[in-house]
Amino acid sequence: MEDIVQNLQTVRERMARACERSQRDPSEIKLVAVTKTVDAGRITAAIRAGVRIVGENRVQEALRKKPQVPVQAQWHMIGHLQTNKVRKALQIFDMVQSLDSLRLAEELDKQAEKLGRPVEALIEVNTSGEVSKFGIQPQETQAFIRELERFPRIVVKGLMTIGPLTDDEQRIRRSFRMLRELFESLKSTNQPRVEMRHLSMGMTDDFEIAIEEGSNMVRIGRAIFGER
Ligand SMILES: *Cc1c(COP(=O)(O)O)cnc(C)c1O
Repeated sequence: MEDIVQNLQTVRERMARACERSQRDPSEIKLVAVTKTVDAGRITAAIRAGVRIVGENRVQEALRKKPQVPVQAQWHMIGHLQTNKVRKALQIFDMVQSLDSLRLAEELDKQAEKLGRPVEALIEVNTSGEVSKFGIQPQETQAFIRELERFPRIVVKGLMTIGPLTDDEQRIRRSFRMLRELFESLKSTNQPRVEMRHLSMGMTDDFEIAIEEGSNMVRIGRAIFGER
């Protein structure tokens, strides 16, 4: 477990240096520790070491592990969510970072109504153009958000993207810059239950670039827990 404490410290230091380079305040940036494939004991150790938000990409896996984690954190769904898993997802997750279709929005709204509570969500945007990736097209995001007005239990808290899988730093940067610009332009959207607060971008291989481009929420797995 000592590796987790050490790795977290290293990640925090790298985040702080990226903030320095871009004249930003490190306290503005939230860290989501991505715990897919990580067992409950190690998740518990990370939370004891200061992690406040845990990210999982599979409902069944999170459902199994969460009861075995005796310490408090926010749990975020970061992977593609199938509509038939929504009911269970809402039992464990505090936020869905991967809202990527109206069909999913409709189901989230319906299940949230049954539970009598709102659902916080980030819109997943496909900024890389990779067809393998889920997410709303950037140019369709504004119209997508307007459609969400029909679903009164969905509260939009920002945007999320997964950068392109490439070593080409300029391509990665362009992808993040595009999301940042979209985020800024959507801030003036005057729609109830839409607030551009979280800009979730950056993972182990690209979080420093993401911070330089304005991310305020990074999702980091391997740099904390080791290779999967
Ligand atoms: C796995 C995953 C991450 C973390 O990836 P690492 O490379 O381990 O940091 C972040 N976001 C999403 C959506 C993921 O699926």
